[in-house]
Amino acid sequence: MGRVPKIIAANWKMNLAPNEAEKLASEILKSHSDNSCNNQVILLPPNVYLTSIRGIISNSAIKLGGQDCHFEDKGAFTGDTSPAMLKNIGCEYAIVGHSERREHHKESDELINKKAKAAISNNLTPIICVGEKLQEREAGKHKEIVSAQLKTILSSIDADKVIIAYEPVWAIGTGKTAKAEEIAEIHDFIKPLIKTAPLLYGGSVNDKNYKEILDINNVDGLLIGGASLIIEKFTQIMCY
Ligand code: PEP
Repeated sequence: MGRVPKIIAANWKMNLAPNEAEKLASEILKSHSDNSCNNQVILLPPNVYLTSIRGIISNSAIKLGGQDCHFEDKGAFTGDTSPAMLKNIGCEYAIVGHSERREHHKESDELINKKAKAAISNNLTPIICVGEKLQEREAGKHKEIVSAQLKTILSSIDADKVIIAYEPVWAIGTGKTAKAEEIAEIHDFIKPLIKTAPLLYGGSVNDKNYKEILDINNVDGLLIGGASLIIEKFTQIMCY
């Protein structure tokens, strides 16, 4: 029996010029098909590139998502993007609660709950990020923090309709990956709290550590930032 397909989500964050984004999407599409990749790949480009990337990957198994969404469908929310808009231009997913949004935009678990609900009502699958900060990990409070985040964010939400990404804040973009035992411990802890929702790991995943992480029990996939921008690294990971 072949390996169970994993979810490999590429968070491009606020990176790439238009031609670079199109080139990367085309290269990902080509290596996905050349290598007959089995995993579910989701590209999460900056919003301004969603339409052009959709054009490149349409008619393929690669899916598209936004990096965030508002909780309202429309209105006076300058600079925001609604889940209805994401859906209308071909997205199937939206990240909500990324630690960079929590930090720079002061997003709370209550707000993330509203965004996740709005995404679901618009037939998008929210990729909900949770994870503790370094001081919380050092104080041994990581389980407590993550379970409190999940309790609030998943309130009145059908867990069958979401993806959860465990991303320790201290491991995101820092080059510091959580140890395999740490990932195994927290994924085993989270899994019973989220019923059938797939559980991704994110935080400095790269071409050196992805195999070990993907082979951990209860790791259903990866949310990848930096390494998703480099075609050689991303190809290895998405085609594992
Ligand atoms: C992320 O953006 O969610 C992420 C995990 O980034 P990186 O892989 O660069 O740590």
